[in-house]
Amino acid sequence: MSESPVSLLGIRFSELQEILVADGVSSHHMRALWGAVQRIAFTDLASVDFLPPLRKWVHENVGSGKRFFIDLPEQSEEIHSSDGLTRKYLLRLTDGQVIETVLMEYKGRFTACLSSQAGCAMGCVFCATGQMGFVRHLTAGEIVAQVQHVRRILAASHPDRRLRNIVLMGMGEPLHNYDSVMRAMDVVSHPAGASVGANHIAISTVGYVPHILRMAEENSPYRLAVSLHGSTEEERSSLVPMSKKWNLETLIDTCRNYCRDTGRRIFFEWTLIKGENDSPETASRLAKLLEGIESHVNIIPLNPTNGYDGSSSKGGEEFQRVLREAGIPCTFRQRRGIDVAAGCGMLKAQKLRKNSTVNA
Ligand code: SF4
Repeated sequence: MSESPVSLLGIRFSELQEILVADGVSSHHMRALWGAVQRIAFTDLASVDFLPPLRKWVHENVGSGKRFFIDLPEQSEEIHSSDGLTRKYLLRLTDGQVIETVLMEYKGRFTACLSSQAGCAMGCVFCATGQMGFVRHLTAGEIVAQVQHVRRILAASHPDRRLRNIVLMGMGEPLHNYDSVMRAMDVVSHPAGASVGANHIAISTVGYVPHILRMAEENSPYRLAVSLHGSTEEERSSLVPMSKKWNLETLIDTCRNYCRDTGRRIFFEWTLIKGENDSPETASRLAKLLEGIESHVNIIPLNPTNGYDGSSSKGGEEFQRVLREAGIPCTFRQRRGIDVAAGCGMLKAQKLRKNSTVNA
């Protein structure tokens, strides 16, 4: 454990238990502490009616200037889509960085879309976050705090429902921040906490090859989603500059090996961009590329940004038809939350633009 204060939110169950025992507190108190931190998300642990040994440990170790802290980010903005099914939150972290978290409802099931970094180093040309550049990785505690934030909102608006799914598809490239993301997902999937099943957690990457390999080596239980966006080296690298480092051929080989070694399916995300990657010919090439890979393709029209626009429903359906005829399982998702700037980084970018206009 490092010397600087650490967020209790980002500590795994087994690690916290080891800390308590090393401090001379019986592990019997662990469930009470974990439940208060992770299940109920108390921020003021000193006010919880723990048994004396745990109360003493909390008093000595948790709080301002002590070994551990627990805090949730401040919500600086909240907007809802007109159908009320998508809610987007701008959250301000302790150092002033602002990130986005989204809560989506589909057929009565709730999914949180989390950010893994402030900004992003990958620079995808159609993405508002990519255009901001990289600021810093989020800590595991900051990633878990987003889950706690939406769980609190859900508890108030739908007390009979729980958070069912998590997707790491907000701001940032999750596999660039591998250790913190995996740690955070280990925490939120723990049955005594938020208890989101590992197979209901999707970690999305734009093709960070070394850490796809690491997920396979470690037999990570989380679902892998790979954003392809291009069916040739040229098409992909014009949209995803990072693919000059790990090209399409290397990425597809890595995905093939991942499926073979883990026996798991990969979800391929395809952001459908009008006039860029939405032709039937591109769909045929994509089908060829994915031959022999246990896959499912999610086709999602782009939320308009940065001069790029999403394809029409007709274009998406045609793309889906070509894939299906080639035997590739796929889903065409209608664009959701367009009126709440739901594409990653869009709300923050809008906010920055507004502020610079006001300050000009
Ligand atoms: S699409 Fe994802 S990986 Fe690409 S720049 Fe945006 S946040 Fe980063």
